[in-house]
Amino acid sequence: MTTTPIVPELPDTKGLQRLDTAHYLHPFTDHAALAQKGARVMVRGDGIYLWDSDGRKALDAMSGLWCVNVGYGRRSITEAVARQMDTLPFYNSFFNTTTIPAVQLAAKLAKIAPAGFNHVFFTGSGSEANDTNVRMVRRYWDLAGQPERTVIISRHNAYHGSTMAGASLGGMSGMHVQGGLPIPGIVHIEQPHYADYGAGMTPEEFGIHAAGWLEERIRELGPDKVAAFIGEPVQGAGGVIIPPSTYWPEIRRICDKYDVLLIADEVITGFGRLGTWFASDLYGMRPDLITFAKGVTSGYVPLGGVLVGDRVADLLIKGGDFNHGFTYSGHPVACAAALENIRILEEEGLVDRVAHDTGPYLQQRFGSLAAHPLVGTADSLGFVAGLTLVRRKAANVHQQVRFDPALGAGMLCRAHMFDNGVIMRAVGDRMIIAPPLVMTRDQVDEMIQKIRFCLDLTLADAM
Ligand code: PLP
Repeated sequence: MTTTPIVPELPDTKGLQRLDTAHYLHPFTDHAALAQKGARVMVRGDGIYLWDSDGRKALDAMSGLWCVNVGYGRRSITEAVARQMDTLPFYNSFFNTTTIPAVQLAAKLAKIAPAGFNHVFFTGSGSEANDTNVRMVRRYWDLAGQPERTVIISRHNAYHGSTMAGASLGGMSGMHVQGGLPIPGIVHIEQPHYADYGAGMTPEEFGIHAAGWLEERIRELGPDKVAAFIGEPVQGAGGVIIPPSTYWPEIRRICDKYDVLLIADEVITGFGRLGTWFASDLYGMRPDLITFAKGVTSGYVPLGGVLVGDRVADLLIKGGDFNHGFTYSGHPVACAAALENIRILEEEGLVDRVAHDTGPYLQQRFGSLAAHPLVGTADSLGFVAGLTLVRRKAANVHQQVRFDPALGAGMLCRAHMFDNGVIMRAVGDRMIIAPPLVMTRDQVDEMIQKIRFCLDLTLADAM
């Protein structure tokens, strides 16, 4: 038998960039700007590091796109995937059939999920999972005899995906202006962003105040019209916005009061990122539904889904057909990857390590960046962190002076990071990270040193 190489010999970087520009429409990309510089071609990963087609090494402080929790180059995941592909590369779960990895993963997720979650609905991505939430909560209220409860409340600057419903649930104005979003039946309240909206209050007072926006909106709409509230426990793509400790307990109280379902979008925060399997537990959210994706397979193969709490699952199961599903719901290869990924997280104690060792260490080291002349605040929780670039520092966050957005300080800083071997993301002037959970203390030091060096370079540009 002749074997064809899986990866044909690569053309040179310039050749790849020409092909890329000619044929590949990238997500969330200004293609004119991309064509000028050419895309960076990533070819290999190992642990927390990546290499591009020019042989340059980069420390990946973003875990790809918040997903490579167990790091790159895990041969046991490759082997689990190859075994499943050899045995049964695909079968669906429609029409009263199932597959071994899908069953095993559903059972495993029920074990590690918060109490009261015993069922899962699989999708191919986080966006599809949030679309599923919209359909599922409306189906739930139909079956519960309150079909007029259809409205879902979300927050400005939230990110819940890129499908029509996902982007509508999200609160990104740049997405809403393209394509007439949000779709009807989805409304937004303001986010619990202390630096932007909490002047004159302590963070704890502000947490209660911000949760109160939900109660106001429920009353305006009429409680009998509201199906659910959705939120990321910590807003990720919006700039790593960590809510005050009082926020989620107060949201829980309000949802209980008006009998509104609570959806925790844990696409980023699930699978150990905050030092717990799910952030719902960390914050005492007791949600009814949990969206997951990314870290469930560490991004090795696409997979997402909704963990369905007993209240919703019981009624759905009694209610006959739920006319919803995807060809790749419960894809056996993706489920095999997830099972091995979860085994690694457990065996290496990575969730505990983030909670008790590397997470607190990152908090201390990342927090030290707040002393840099360009940094207003630097905060972290578990293995997510963000710092804000400011023109003038002040002890009180509400008295700091921000940069003129036209300067693009965040993008300047990101370019220095990119050129100096560390991958960080810029959201406006907020620089954010979400490193692989395997990062060691020494690697935290290496990352902080690189970030500090690039902040110095940015300072020279910006002042
Ligand atoms: N929800 C959250 C909180 C996310 O951060 C993302 C992606 O970044 C999504 C949903 C969408 O997931 P996907 O890109 O897999 O569709």
